[in-house]
Amino acid sequence: MPQALSTDILIVGGGIAGLWLNARLRRLGYATLLVEKERLGGGQSVRSQGIIHGGTKYALSGALTGSSEAIADMPRRWREALAGSGELDLRGVRRLSDAHYLWSPGTLAGNLTGFFASKAMRGRVDQVKGSELPPALQDAKFKGKVYRLAELVLDVPSLIARLAELSGDGLLAGERIEPLRENGELVGLAVDGREIRARRVVLSAGQGNAGLLDALGIEQPKQQLRPLHMVLVKAPTLKPLYAHCLGGGTKPRITVTTHPAADGQWVWYLGGDLAEADGVARDEAAQIAFARRELAELLPWVDLSAAEWRTLRVDRAEPAQSGLVRPDNAFLSEQGNLLVGWPTKLALAPDFAERVIAALERAAIHPGSHADMPALPRPAVAAAPWQELFA
Ligand code: FAD
Repeated sequence: MPQALSTDILIVGGGIAGLWLNARLRRLGYATLLVEKERLGGGQSVRSQGIIHGGTKYALSGALTGSSEAIADMPRRWREALAGSGELDLRGVRRLSDAHYLWSPGTLAGNLTGFFASKAMRGRVDQVKGSELPPALQDAKFKGKVYRLAELVLDVPSLIARLAELSGDGLLAGERIEPLRENGELVGLAVDGREIRARRVVLSAGQGNAGLLDALGIEQPKQQLRPLHMVLVKAPTLKPLYAHCLGGGTKPRITVTTHPAADGQWVWYLGGDLAEADGVARDEAAQIAFARRELAELLPWVDLSAAEWRTLRVDRAEPAQSGLVRPDNAFLSEQGNLLVGWPTKLALAPDFAERVIAALERAAIHPGSHADMPALPRPAVAAAPWQELFA
């Protein structure tokens, strides 16, 4: 029987939500332990595009709403953390781009000019031209308009690695999770048979939350999954591009981010509308053929004759919402000693942690004193898909 442990806060799931929370709580002096069943970041987090949204994309559907304002502060908070002066010290995390761009192909430009010049958008977007354009768009054949958003793009694997460092001895590789109850109250979890007592248990296991809630016999909150079929393309001719290419609707036609492959070439990671419903219905070959046509139409000057293509299916996990509406805030539900939630976006991990900390403060749970953690089996950090899929 492995040694029983005790801690203030026991976290299940080591994606961005659990790792950010773990690091924040430890900085505030709480004893914490985070349990991960596979690899740190290996769920949605390392498969994400790494954009630290400020909500501008959502403003495309109309005026900025209250909920999209809630995300507006995220780029500032992340920038401060990256500079070492914020709520966490994320110095050393690789920043792929200091800005994300909105790019409207020729035909659409007229409608958007007025919108971007509107009061709601002032200070959030600036039009760029010539040598200020993203390198991949600097071509004589390029037509259309490009706007620079004050949103950055991060290399998520380096972010996960840094957060794992900040977790110190507070990480445990563990798979089988059962509730530990006393007088009907949750007092911790048994992880692979090891009893771990805690004053609060936080489930931040992404898609895994549904199974964990089942195991605890808890019906709410319900989870929704939003399937995506992403495309990756690697070629020696690619130049960096971080942009939403606008279509006619409220969602970007394509969202392109650029990531380093193991051999030093760039990989374009394509999401947006291309990866949603119709894209999910296509098989891999049809999805690649569709992406080829989109790039040939939008960026005809880019030579893709030597390109290698892959696709990646992944589900986004979120709290259930009517009509599969996309939530704009981190979500947290409290039930006695159990907290469960989804950040809903990588960018909103600070908001998720803030909600947990506020719940602890409301319940007057302050850092306690606990015995030092013994050496524990430690989960590994996940590899990035743009490295693994082209290996
Ligand atoms: P996850 O990253 O899924 O982590 C959950 C962890 O819990 C995993 O490591 C898993 O192994 C572990 N786990 C599961 N079950 C158990 C269990 N029973 N016991 C122990 N551990 C368990 N957001 C943005 O802000 N910007 C973007 O550019 C962006 N792009 C995206 C692109 C794609 C293709 C996808 C899919 C998502 C994107 N997102 C983006 C959303 C973002 O990735 C997610 O909201 C965020 O990563 C969720 O983090 P998480 O920690 O909740 O979940």
